[in-house]
Amino acid sequence: MASKHNGFSGNAASGRADRRGACLPTMTPARSRRIVAALLSHHGNPGPALKYVNPYQLAVSVVLSAQTTDRQVNSVTPRLFERYPDFADLARARIADLESIIRSVGFYRTKAGNIRALARMVMERYAGRLPSGRDELMSLPGVGRKSTNVILAMGFGIPAFAVDTHVLRVSNRIGYARSDNPDMVESCLTAVIPQSDWISGHLLFIKHGRAICKARGPLCGQCPVNAHCDFVGNNPGTRP
Ligand code: SF4
Repeated sequence: MASKHNGFSGNAASGRADRRGACLPTMTPARSRRIVAALLSHHGNPGPALKYVNPYQLAVSVVLSAQTTDRQVNSVTPRLFERYPDFADLARARIADLESIIRSVGFYRTKAGNIRALARMVMERYAGRLPSGRDELMSLPGVGRKSTNVILAMGFGIPAFAVDTHVLRVSNRIGYARSDNPDMVESCLTAVIPQSDWISGHLLFIKHGRAICKARGPLCGQCPVNAHCDFVGNNPGTRP
């Protein structure tokens, strides 16, 4: 992860610094409330970028989305889901056929193996139904903490704050954390954002990262949280 673009300096200006970074004490629940409200007012209620209609499609799409764009995933999943409409069908798929369908997605060979292994595990352990428990999801092939949080939130409506590259960058710039570690940033976000806002907050931070707080060249002059953001000089001493 390129620290320069995340706004992560590697040295926490304040707070509990360790190798993983730190949450910043300058980010309080009240300040965070103003930030989330400003993002909501500007961006509305954004939906997920991945296209899916059920937990099966969500889980497969999430696994495919690692280190590639949602747009690329959405370009291959209609054919994939038409050919393999559920876990049972996917569990019986030939790897060569999966690879040919998802070839345009990064790491397609690994992902073809992962989605079939995931389908087989769901069939064998959970009778073809995607589990909704964190530990069970984390045990599935190709599903790490971020993917688990996305599935919990988007598939089951269970509060979780997934930290992807956009959330990581935006959180560091605004001043929630000084860390390039997604788990650390997740803990900083969930410490000051109420649980009821975790799902919408995750979507808002992604939308904001894509539309305004871009990796290269953030549009600070048009930003609705400009007045609350460390990156532009608020809270001197905490600027990433
Ligand atoms: S002010 Fe700039 S750095 Fe801060 S959130 Fe807005 S776009 Fe990102």
